[in-house]
Amino acid sequence: MRRSLHFVVALALASSCFATAQQLDFLIRGGTVVDGSGSPAARADVGITGDRIVFIGDGHGKHAKREIDATGLVVTPGFIDPHTHTAGDLSDPKRRRNDAYLMQGVTTVVTGNDGESPREVGATLAKWQKQGIGTNAALFIGQGTVRGQVMGMSDAKPTPDQLERMKRLVETAMQQGAIGISTGLYYAPGSYSSTEEVIDLAKVAAQHGGIYDTHMRDESSYTIGLVGAVRETIRIGQEAHLPVMISHIKALGVDVWGQSADVIKLIDDARHSGLSITASQYPYTASGTSVTAALVPRWAEAGGALIKNLDAPDVHARLVAEMNQNLVRRGGADSLLMTDSRDKSIVGKTLAVIAKERNESPIDAAIEIIKAGGSGVASFNMKESDIEAFMRQPWVMTCSDGSEGHPRKYGTYPRKIHEYVYERHVLSLEVAVRSSTSLPASTLGLKDRGLLKTGYFADVLVFDPKTFNERATYESPRVLATGVRYLAVNGQLAIENGALTTTLAGRALKH
Ligand SMILES: [Zn+2]
Repeated sequence: MRRSLHFVVALALASSCFATAQQLDFLIRGGTVVDGSGSPAARADVGITGDRIVFIGDGHGKHAKREIDATGLVVTPGFIDPHTHTAGDLSDPKRRRNDAYLMQGVTTVVTGNDGESPREVGATLAKWQKQGIGTNAALFIGQGTVRGQVMGMSDAKPTPDQLERMKRLVETAMQQGAIGISTGLYYAPGSYSSTEEVIDLAKVAAQHGGIYDTHMRDESSYTIGLVGAVRETIRIGQEAHLPVMISHIKALGVDVWGQSADVIKLIDDARHSGLSITASQYPYTASGTSVTAALVPRWAEAGGALIKNLDAPDVHARLVAEMNQNLVRRGGADSLLMTDSRDKSIVGKTLAVIAKERNESPIDAAIEIIKAGGSGVASFNMKESDIEAFMRQPWVMTCSDGSEGHPRKYGTYPRKIHEYVYERHVLSLEVAVRSSTSLPASTLGLKDRGLLKTGYFADVLVFDPKTFNERATYESPRVLATGVRYLAVNGQLAIENGALTTTLAGRALKH
C-alpha cells in the first residue's frame, strides 16, 4: 500500500515536472502560418521552447512565458540567403549583428561565394561563434582564393604539384566545416582555370559531401556564352558527382536577352537525367560589380599587371576596342551607375555623365576611374521577362548577393514578396517563402532549418504584409527594410516590435 502511494506521488511529481518542461518560452498566436514547404497558408499558433519549435497548431489553453499577438501578421521560417558577401561584416565587432539581413527577416546567411572566401574556414567559423553574430552563418571555400594562394594571379595551367596543393587546401576547408566549394569563373583568377581543373577540386568537395556553387564563366556573351556556361556547370556536376548551384542566375545584356528559355530547358533536362542542379536569384534588373570586372578583359589583369596594361602603348588599341565591346554588351555608358568609390564625386553618376563632364570618351573615363582606385557599379543589364521566367522555376531560390552600393543587400527579401507576390502576382506567397527557406536549407544541407516544423530550430519570422518592403534605392542603398515585427534566431528575439535587440543568437554552421 505504502509502496503504491509512493508510486502515485512519484508519478504526480513526474507529470508536474513534465508540465513545467512543456511550458513554452514563446507562443506566437493568431498569425497566418506559411511553413516554408509550399503548403497553403493556414492560421495557427507557434510555440517555442529553448532554441526549438515545439508546437504548431491551436494553442488554446497553452501557456507561455511570453505571448506574441500575430493577428493580421504572417509567420514564416527565417529566410536563408545562400549567396552573400558578409564575411567582413560578421568578423567586424561593429557590424557582426548583420542588421541589413535581420531587418529583411533573414536568419541564416551563406558567404564565401563567387570563388572568394576567407582562407581559414575553421578559424573564421570559430571566431564568429566565439564573438557572437546576429544571424547564423555558413561558409564556402572559394576556388579563386585557393588558386590565388597557390598560384597568385598567374593565368598558367597548374603543375601537378600546384594542383595537389590546391586539392589539399579544399580538403582542409571541407574538414573544417565548409559547406562546399564556390567558384567565380568570370573573375580573375578563377577565369584562368580550365573546366578540368575545377572538376578536380570539386571532386574533393564531393568526397566530403559538399556542393558546388558557381558564378559562372559567362552570364552574357563575353567568352563561352550564357548557354555554354550552363553546360560547363552541368558537366562539372556530372563529372565531379556533386550537387551544383548556379549563383544569381540571369541573362546579362542585350545579346542574351530571352535566353532564359534555353537555360531553363537545359537545367530541366539535367535534372531529369538525375543531376541535382538549382540556382539562386536576386529580384533586380541591375547587377552589382566593379568597373574593372564589367569592362576590362581578363587578359589585361593576368599576373596582376592591370595598371601597367592600362598605360601600355602596345596593347592600348586592343584594350580600348575590347572595353568598348564590353560596354555595348552591358547596354552602354548610361547603364553603368557608380555606387561605391574612394572618389565620392563620381558616386551616383552614370559613366555617361562622368564622361560628358570630363569631356572624354566613356572608355577613357572608365580607365581613369580604374587608375584612381576603381568603383563599384550597378549595371542595368537584365530584362524583366527573363527575371520572372527564372523566378517561376521550382529550383530557383532567393539570394541577395548583397554588396555595398546596391539596394539588394538591404532589400532583396521584402522586395521579392512586396513586388513579385503582392504587386505583380508572379508568385504565390507560399512559393516565394519556400524559395527563401526550405529550398535553400535542403540544397545547402542545413539540418533542421527552413521549415516551421516541430523539432526544428526556432528561426521564426513574423512580418506585417502591409508594410513589408525595401526602402533602399540605388541612390540610397544603405536603408534598412520595414515590416518585420518579430524575428527569432535560435529561439531568441533579434527583432522585437519592429526594432533590433542587442541579442547575438546566430551560430556558425558547420557542414
Ligand atoms: Zn557573383
